[in-house]
Amino acid sequence: MVSILIIEDEKDIVEALEYNLKKEGFKVSQANDGRSGLKIAREKLPDLILLDLMLPQIDGTEVCKILKSESKTATTPIIMLTAKSSEIDKVVGLEIGADDYVTKPFSMRELIARIKAILKRYVKSDQNIKKPYFKFPNLEIDIEKHEVKVDGKQIELTAKEFALLQYLAENKGKAISRSKLLDTVWGIEVAIETRTVDVHVKRLREKLGKKGGKYISTLRGIGYKFVE
Ligand code: CA
Repeated sequence: MVSILIIEDEKDIVEALEYNLKKEGFKVSQANDGRSGLKIAREKLPDLILLDLMLPQIDGTEVCKILKSESKTATTPIIMLTAKSSEIDKVVGLEIGADDYVTKPFSMRELIARIKAILKRYVKSDQNIKKPYFKFPNLEIDIEKHEVKVDGKQIELTAKEFALLQYLAENKGKAISRSKLLDTVWGIEVAIETRTVDVHVKRLREKLGKKGGKYISTLRGIGYKFVE
């Protein structure tokens, strides 16, 4: 049974979410503030987390950052529930690594569709791992351990940056369009602009430095390619 953790302090929303998610066959747990949300996420390791942005004790952005930085929860998909559309830019993972967001008030149908899309993508990407280990001169990618090394030195990447690098490396030598990257790495076709991909690739390159970043080449007007 797929389990979903709701971290939200508004009781009405929690109740509505619980009711609808259970009806869809999900196993649901919930927390009403950031601190207990973190605790339950670490203990129960849910398959997906719905995370409110404004929370007592520890706010949603902080909770998201913490979960994405801990190895046990780094790959757990997180959908942020935000109140204002002005918060979206911040939320959409650029800074905090969330996988998706919905703006309140949201439609239950839309949210459930997004949950299903994200879960499908995670299952798919798990099954598609053909080579859990990539070794190139200067650059090593260990999919299983979720580790990247440049010249033997470990590089800290966000879950998204890692997923990007992994997907590009798995498709070495192929031109990958931005929208393809959005679709596979983010699992969203319309909600995020393609420039999101560029921002993430830029950060990924910076982190990998000259020696690691040289593998990712830009195809002007198209997207990116991993080249050896
Ligand atoms: Ca709230």
